[in-house]
Amino acid sequence: MPEQLDCLVIGGGPAGLTAAIYLARFHLTVAVADGRQSRALQIACSQNHAGFPNGISGRGLLTRMRAQAVRYGSQIVDCQIDEIDRDRVGFSARGDGHAFSARSVLIATGVTNCRPPIDDALHAEALSLGRLRYCPVCDGYEVTGQDVGVIGSDARAAKECEFLRSFTDRVSLVLNERGDLPGAIAARLATIRVRVIGGPAQDFQLEAGGLSMSSATGRVCFEAVYPALGSVVHSELATLLGAAVTQDGCIKVDSHQRTALPDYMQQETS
Ligand SMILES: Cc1cc2nc3c(=O)[nH]c(=O)nc-3n(C[C@H](O)[C@H](O)[C@H](O)COP(=O)(O)OP(=O)(O)OC[C@H]3O[C@@H](n4cnc5c(N)ncnc54)[C@H](O)[C@@H]3O)c2cc1C
Repeated sequence: MPEQLDCLVIGGGPAGLTAAIYLARFHLTVAVADGRQSRALQIACSQNHAGFPNGISGRGLLTRMRAQAVRYGSQIVDCQIDEIDRDRVGFSARGDGHAFSARSVLIATGVTNCRPPIDDALHAEALSLGRLRYCPVCDGYEVTGQDVGVIGSDARAAKECEFLRSFTDRVSLVLNERGDLPGAIAARLATIRVRVIGGPAQDFQLEAGGLSMSSATGRVCFEAVYPALGSVVHSELATLLGAAVTQDGCIKVDSHQRTALPDYMQQETS
């Protein structure tokens, strides 16, 4: 590892590895620090990735991307960064016994989807069978015409139902908690013929024809289920550096994707 990197990429999912490939091909010295929890590892077979007409697993894609980044000189270190600071030359970062010094850092730490109450083994099996899904933009095509359930209780979940209605006319929203939807949301869902089922959605089980769960009105079963429960945004490192974040943890940027952090590079050269 060079004493000082041009760039430390934090996060080795598709975003971080893409950055590493580009940066290394600009003849920059790059290391990727990766906690190895990419969401892509949960993709059984992605069908929307250009260039893979027969699909590719998320794990397979990451293996290829890692190899490509390494081929051009990126170093990949499996570690979780938990400390980051500004220093005289740029940034210093530490975690899991590793320390990095870099002129710049690129944070590509992703998000974690919030899960419904399903144990890990069942969750993994349902994902692998395509009974549980998280990204209708990625794989809504695969549920075309199917009986689909969305889990959630807010405007975001209703939007997900609305989007899925462009793939199938059998969409139901199962509330993830007791209580009713706000009237305006319920009215909109009624207009687009989305059935609303009282919650909480729980006691999930794989059946021959889908994934079932208990609801306020008994057990319901769907060929595919999309939790729409939001995500935990991994913006802690950016926050440590002083970046402003929204209430959801998303980093605030301007119309040029710039954070509120001062441009250190410019400060140093001026
Ligand atoms: C079930 C499922 C199916 C999907 N299907 C598709 C699909 O078919 N097509 C598609 O295009 N997309 C799909 N997606 C979405 C896709 O997985 C994500 O868009 C993609 O993984 C995001 O890439 P990323 O690099 O931003 O984040 P991630 O892939 O989540 O990678 C972030 C990385 O950063 C690491 N990290 C976080 N914090 C730290 C830290 N402090 N120090 C070091 N490392 C850290 C994590 O360990 C992780 O390895 C799917 C997602 C899921 C969950």
